Amino acid sequence: MQTIVDYFTTIPSSHRSLILVGGITIFWLIESAVPLFANTYGKWKHAGINFFFTLTTIIVNFILAFILVRTSEWVVAADFGLLQWLNLPVWAVLVLGLPLLDLIGAYAAHWTEHRIPVLWRFHLIHHTDQHIDTTSANRHHPGESVIRFIFTTAAVLIVGAPIWLVFLYQSLSVVLSQFNHANIVVPKWINKVLSPVLVTPDMHRVHHHYRMPYTDTNFGNIFSFWDRIFGTYSEVDNTKLIYGVDTHMDLADHSDIGHMLKVPFVKRETLKYDTEEKL
Ligand SMILES: [Zn+2]
Repeated sequence: MQTIVDYFTTIPSSHRSLILVGGITIFWLIESAVPLFANTYGKWKHAGINFFFTLTTIIVNFILAFILVRTSEWVVAADFGLLQWLNLPVWAVLVLGLPLLDLIGAYAAHWTEHRIPVLWRFHLIHHTDQHIDTTSANRHHPGESVIRFIFTTAAVLIVGAPIWLVFLYQSLSVVLSQFNHANIVVPKWINKVLSPVLVTPDMHRVHHHYRMPYTDTNFGNIFSFWDRIFGTYSEVDNTKLIYGVDTHMDLADHSDIGHMLKVPFVKRETLKYDTEEKL
């Protein structure tokens, strides 16, 4: 346990990059072997656009990282936040802290982005992807990266998370997001074992269906139980899904970087969902 604490307290940036690149590589290889939807969409061109937005996500987080580190140092020094008040052993900090960081830093951030129109405008380009695969995980508008950063910092403050827990959470968050966006067939028994606790591709793909009500379900990133607890969980036969958002199905909305950067600032008559459809 102490090894985990020591490692993540001083994890080098190169290891963090390796986790990101390694995750994409592994899931990409599995996608080539057992894809759910056939790779007929030009995987490299599609990846190029998503890598651009992954890079902007990395840059935004790199620039702002010192705020996160300072916040974590402060909560420990000032004895502030849930974990600091409870004074728990390390294993309990992990078991309680990880789900809470995931709840505030990911579930609440994501849920809010779907509820508040101005935030939705920035989140939109994550949803305009019409071919969800592992490269879609970090396809975020730079504005959305800032929004998510604010939620993560708030999470560290409320939870009172030490820095090792923050870095461990972020590493897991990256890999889980790559996993749950991956265009792979997960054997039924593995899905059954994982899905009560973790967000699997079968669960997250439903969130990327192009029509309501599914777009507003399955907000979770690491832990699947938050959606079950807050009543936003849904299940659909994945082969029936069509990816995208029905208000933004034009080619430029999902494959023209310049246009996509401007999407949050373009006025549209219908911002959110034309039609509801029950699968
Ligand atoms: Zn979403």
